[in-house]
Amino acid sequence: MSVEDLTRADIERILDRAQSFAEVSGRAIKKVPALRGRTVLNLFYEASTRTSSSFELAAKRLSADFVSVRAQGSAVDKGESLKDTVRTLSAYDPALVVIRSPWAGAAELVARWAPAAVVNAGDGKREHPTQALLDLYTLWQRVGALDGLKVWIVGDVLHSRVARSNVLAFRRMGCEVTVAGPPTLVPREIESLGCRVRASLDELAEADVVYALRMQRERMEGAFVPSLREYAARYQIDGRRLSPQQVLMHPGPVNRGVELSAEVIDSPQALIAQQVEAGVVVRMAVLYELLASGGQQEPAAGLGLQAPVPAVVEVAGQSA
Ligand code: ASP
Repeated sequence: MSVEDLTRADIERILDRAQSFAEVSGRAIKKVPALRGRTVLNLFYEASTRTSSSFELAAKRLSADFVSVRAQGSAVDKGESLKDTVRTLSAYDPALVVIRSPWAGAAELVARWAPAAVVNAGDGKREHPTQALLDLYTLWQRVGALDGLKVWIVGDVLHSRVARSNVLAFRRMGCEVTVAGPPTLVPREIESLGCRVRASLDELAEADVVYALRMQRERMEGAFVPSLREYAARYQIDGRRLSPQQVLMHPGPVNRGVELSAEVIDSPQALIAQQVEAGVVVRMAVLYELLASGGQQEPAAGLGLQAPVPAVVEVAGQSA
């Protein structure tokens, strides 16, 4: 539901397991039988490219049966309520439901109505926990230990579920987090999550990691910035603002020329493609954790997140 539900040990276990799945993803036949015979249901009430496709691939690589329902083109279009939809789809006896919706708290409701395990794949402006996990994984693979890293999250924090989940997740892993953006797009309460707030990028040079957010225009009901051009002039991450030792992250989709300039998107410092790739193995680890770990809470590989090492772990003692 939320990164708040996860301890540091939980996160490390999931990331360790994701690393073991990375080995599976490197094979010609990218499948293990861990979830054979189980059904995973994607229920998406909002647009998605990366999240929905990576959950689908994750379920299929674990050999689950996979069903996808999108609000558009389904009975939701005809006015069926979330509760009725969940009850109807529960007739298929899914082991797990992945839900994305524009309503904060929707995943909790689904969990109340369906006997299945539930994963929050983004609920309105509130949280997107698997995005935070895949971001931690990507960064860990790139830089090793995360303790003490200085992370700047820049842009439209107000409308971003990624910002909330990521502040919580980076803090949990011992990073120092700063959020920066126009005061109209940075809610003051965000400080209560344990981060600093800045209204300018003047001190951006101190950051080890620059995490840019998309301007979420679909969630803006008024003018939060005078113009996108003015926003870009003050807050765009470009070749001038990004220094060579910093790494750049973005959850996608990117508004090219708004929050990021083309030169930095395509630079070797950008981890954007790696984030997408990590989405599959991290979501495999989340599905595995909920459905196949049998309540085992020990680290998958005992790596303790010191430094990434090549994966040699067999998945549940089986490889296929
Ligand atoms: N893909 C992410 C989300 O669904 C970030 C974004 O859309 O800007 O929240």
